[in-house]
Amino acid sequence: MGAAVSERARRVLEECLSIAAMSEEPGRITRRFLTEPMHRVHAHLRKQMEDLGMQVRVDAAGNLRGWWPAEASNGDRLIIGSHLDTVPNAGAYDGILGVVIGLEWVRLAQAMRRDCPVEVVGFSEEEGVRYGVPFLGSRAMTGCFDSGLLGLVDANGITVEEAIRQFGLRPSQIVQAEMDGGVRGFVEVHIEQGPVLDAEGLQVAAVEAIVGQTRGSLEFTGQANHAGTTPMHLRRDAMAAAAEWITEAESLAQRTPGLVATVGRVSVAPNAGNVIAGSVAASLDCRHADDSVRRAAVDQLTKRAEEIAIRRGLSVRWTEHMNQPAVPMDLRLTAMMADAIRDAGFQVRRMTSGAGHDAMIMAPRVPATMLFLRSPGGISHHPDEAVLLEDIEASLLVAEQFLKRLASSVR
Ligand SMILES: [Zn+2]
Repeated sequence: MGAAVSERARRVLEECLSIAAMSEEPGRITRRFLTEPMHRVHAHLRKQMEDLGMQVRVDAAGNLRGWWPAEASNGDRLIIGSHLDTVPNAGAYDGILGVVIGLEWVRLAQAMRRDCPVEVVGFSEEEGVRYGVPFLGSRAMTGCFDSGLLGLVDANGITVEEAIRQFGLRPSQIVQAEMDGGVRGFVEVHIEQGPVLDAEGLQVAAVEAIVGQTRGSLEFTGQANHAGTTPMHLRRDAMAAAAEWITEAESLAQRTPGLVATVGRVSVAPNAGNVIAGSVAASLDCRHADDSVRRAAVDQLTKRAEEIAIRRGLSVRWTEHMNQPAVPMDLRLTAMMADAIRDAGFQVRRMTSGAGHDAMIMAPRVPATMLFLRSPGGISHHPDEAVLLEDIEASLLVAEQFLKRLASSVR
């Protein structure tokens, strides 16, 4: 890696760290939708964008949007971006890295001197922290911002509509946040937020799909009774049934490629050490990039729960709370990203994203793909979240190849 190339990677890293200081809480990174520090982030990035010759605006949903039109171009643009908000006590890279890197993509496009206009977007909201509903920014950009969302209330009784107004924007103009049709594609660069690339010793990956999710709750009902006087063969123990089912869920996911299944919460009644559990409700979070595999897994697990319940003389009830389909990334754009990874001299790794991203909201409207950067230690949504300079540089080498291919592709 030469001195010149590491300079741009260092610039990206330092930008992320500068923006990390723009927080609602001293000493911790917390930046929710349209809170005060978001003004500072906008001002900071606006300056960078204007220095690059970009035209900058903030739409009514609070998305920061910088446009570089290329030389005398009337061609369609590439949109690159990610989100500006964070979870409470966040790391310094989730979301913001993809915006700051977008500015480097503009520098690359400018250096190429090809007809390749670029819009960089900092989405105002992705994490769903302030209003409990995620993707407020990308929903507005794709024209999916339901007007009912304006009435949502935060912990201080402030509605989305009031928050937009307090930020100096006009809720009535949200419809104008919707992007026009002149878009070649959307790219989101993001940290992986998981341990896969780190474990494989790889730096970057092309994302093929964002997994679908089922979330639900399974309640076993037996008979609460005395732990001392009830012999083992006369029990209807909801805890033992749930435990048996939880290990079945784990083992099904272990033997099904790409499937993850998690029981992260149990509520037990009466929840006492000397009482046999009368009822246990266990959560299930099940994800896969192929909806049919996920559906089959959930069907199998609910069927197994019934078998376990019948054998143990219990009843069981399954309640589904979420059934969200997988979102495939655009085949052509993802292939272009994989080719760019190869052309840049890296091993091509394609993977699915187990977490949701703005790209899944953009994908139904425009061809979309993602580039993941290794998360050291697999840690994210935590102050220890990190990114390596060499991986930022790797992603920029990929970006260079990707932009070349995009500029050459016929439209
Ligand atoms: Zn994110």
